[in-house]
Amino acid sequence: MSVDESDVRAVARAIRDAESVVALTGAGVSTASGIPDFRGEDGIWERHDPMDFHIDRFRADPGGFWRDRVQLQASAFDDGNVAPNAAHEALAALESAGHLDTVVTQNIDGLHQDAGSEDVIEIHGSAARVVCRDCSQRFDAEPAMERARDGDLPPTCDDCDGTLKPDTVLFGEQLPEHALMQSQARAENADVFLAVGSSLTVEPAASLPRVAAERGATLVLVNLESTPLSDRADYDFRADVTEALPELRRAVEE
Ligand SMILES: [Zn+2]
Repeated sequence: MSVDESDVRAVARAIRDAESVVALTGAGVSTASGIPDFRGEDGIWERHDPMDFHIDRFRADPGGFWRDRVQLQASAFDDGNVAPNAAHEALAALESAGHLDTVVTQNIDGLHQDAGSEDVIEIHGSAARVVCRDCSQRFDAEPAMERARDGDLPPTCDDCDGTLKPDTVLFGEQLPEHALMQSQARAENADVFLAVGSSLTVEPAASLPRVAAERGATLVLVNLESTPLSDRADYDFRADVTEALPELRRAVEE
């Protein structure tokens, strides 16, 4: 854990001077709220079979899919009893103070919005919503989850009776094109790009900070471990996101 104070002040200055600041957040921001990493050692996919959450499985057996989805909800999201942490809160505070434009997140837990962030691009969708396969309306996930828990499988749309699907990107599904284009555009325009709690190994998250840096953004990494972009970063804070981000926020507001 090492965050040099003068580096924090320098990043804070860059943020204050920037016209556009973009943050990318990954699993490390969610794990601090008790959500296990999906990919890591002891991750979700060590305990659940990823193929159960493939789009082909959903198409073939939506009821069985939802039964497994209910179990995943319990083990990954503590049945919804997860709350934003100091890193989410620092990012929301930076946004409301006008120092952060957009959060691009790889996380699907909706905790940035729970913390008060408004401009959030979810490149893997959100488990907080469901989408109707027929009429494409989106709804809060909790009522659908509740019905699935009660054995009403699969939960269906109140309007058209279509099958509801979690509004997340399942295995075998394309990432949402609009969200990708938006995040690419924000990265290209960023003066400061913060990559927080992401190992930067999965596309497109890996390429966004690279694009930003190529366009001249100050690249700041906050992650416990090194990443493939550590050598390119202007600042590489190997730190706990729940400590480094509040510190950065304080420095910006000083
Ligand atoms: Zn519908």
